[in-house]
Amino acid sequence: MTPQTRTSLKELQNLDQAIAAIRSSAQSFDLLLEEVNAPVARLEQEVEALEKRLTELKLEENRIELTIEERRVRAAKLQERMDAVRNVREEAAVHAELEMVRRALESEEQEALSLLDQIKRLEERSEEQEAAHQEALAEVGPHREELVEEQQSADGKLEALQAERDAFAAGIDLGERRIYDSIMAGARDVAVAELTQDGACGNCYNMVPLQIQNQIRHGEGMIRCEGCGVILTPESEEGLALAREEGERIERALRTSTDQRDEERAALSEAEALEEAEQAAVAEATTAEASAAKDSGPISDDPAPDMMSGSVFDTLAAEVAIEGQPVASDGALAEVLGLKAVTEDVVSNVVPAEELAIAAVTED
Ligand SMILES: [Zn+2]
Repeated sequence: MTPQTRTSLKELQNLDQAIAAIRSSAQSFDLLLEEVNAPVARLEQEVEALEKRLTELKLEENRIELTIEERRVRAAKLQERMDAVRNVREEAAVHAELEMVRRALESEEQEALSLLDQIKRLEERSEEQEAAHQEALAEVGPHREELVEEQQSADGKLEALQAERDAFAAGIDLGERRIYDSIMAGARDVAVAELTQDGACGNCYNMVPLQIQNQIRHGEGMIRCEGCGVILTPESEEGLALAREEGERIERALRTSTDQRDEERAALSEAEALEEAEQAAVAEATTAEASAAKDSGPISDDPAPDMMSGSVFDTLAAEVAIEGQPVASDGALAEVLGLKAVTEDVVSNVVPAEELAIAAVTED
């Protein structure tokens, strides 16, 4: 087995694998088409069945019309004979036959009418079904065309690949090709595999004995894997490069995931800190609101001074905030104290009890 054959067999395998892939996608096209077509096909069948039944009924009706025509001729003849009878016996006989013909005619005319009626109803239904069929066709039309186009393009590719494959195979040593074909014929898609870097079969990963690895690497004859039977070839430059690339990719992925994990951890602790700060702010704001709500009601005559102090500051904070001056919820006390001068008018508006309380706290 020369290096040339080895490359050729591998290339042949590439072509065969591409052909197999296109074949399997062609099969899925068939299934898809069938699925898309299903409603149309059902209506088509119904229309066909109706048409068939209509044809039968029309034939039947034609046959009866002919019989009626014959009977009418017969009846007319009998009538003529009736006018020319020579005796009573003859008259009775002709009369009896005429009666019979007339009765038959009557029932046949009845049947013809009923058939005509059936035909009319069937024609109406057939028209309806045909309209539904056309509608369904129009509905699935674009999708179907798309699929058919894709299928045709796949068929074209398949044909070209098959031709390429045949031409290529013709250039390969017949003995080698037979072995290759016999492996592929076993409903497999791999007949040639490279040794891996560490000397295993690239298809089943069974280790190949060292001596045999050397024979393979030196191109000494066609050697097949004892495990899975594929033809073994040395690792190609391509294969080695791919293995290196894969190794680097894994390393990069590992590094990225470590970096990502660190970043995520940092982001998480930051988020936690933020959340804590927010919770503290919310708690404080809630207290301020509650106090403001309480103080906006009628003021009790005898508020506990230390309780009041907090409330008054909160009220002040709320009022200052209302006046449009932003007050940070944390450190509200200090800020309100600092704002005392600025908001003198606000303070002068509050009831004396509160002023007293402020004075008390300020003195503290
Ligand atoms: Zn193997």
